[in-house]
Amino acid sequence: MRQYTGSVPDTLRAADWRDLALCATDAYRAVDFFPNPTDKPGNATAVAVCETCPVRLACLRDALRQEGGRKAVYRDGIRGGLTADQRYSLWRSAVRARAKARKQPKPPAPCGTPAAYQRHVKQSEPVCKTCAAENRKRVRAEAQAWRAEQARNAAPR
Ligand code: SF4
Ligand SMILES: [Zn+2]
Repeated sequence: MRQYTGSVPDTLRAADWRDLALCATDAYRAVDFFPNPTDKPGNATAVAVCETCPVRLACLRDALRQEGGRKAVYRDGIRGGLTADQRYSLWRSAVRARAKARKQPKPPAPCGTPAAYQRHVKQSEPVCKTCAAENRKRVRAEAQAWRAEQARNAAPR
């Protein structure tokens, strides 16, 4: 009977969530956490133990991090209460959700920022009062900085 022991041998690791893992206790030594994926009762027994495990979420997070994008067939056993297939589906839906979030158009820059001023100009629309005022301020500040630099360069050294 194989038991989940984590990726690092007990003797080499600092205390962490694995110390509270139910599957590592004598009470559940008889439960197989690596049943054949086709063994439904075997899988259900392991999952039932995980459902009462105090570190289920930490265990699941660790499994997802460790397994990365591996296909279900390359994942092994029940971890965090999920089968290999379920963990792979979870990973895929997280990847899809991230891709979808990336595709969301960014909200337009708020008026008063250089990007908003540029947007008005590029779209050949009237520049709003806020953008116009902020742009005048920026132009003035740049001119002032330029004059100050000229004065510094002209000063005798
Ligand atoms: S959730 Fe399941 S596999 Fe993970 S530590 Fe707990 S009993 Fe073990
Ligand atoms: Zn504007």
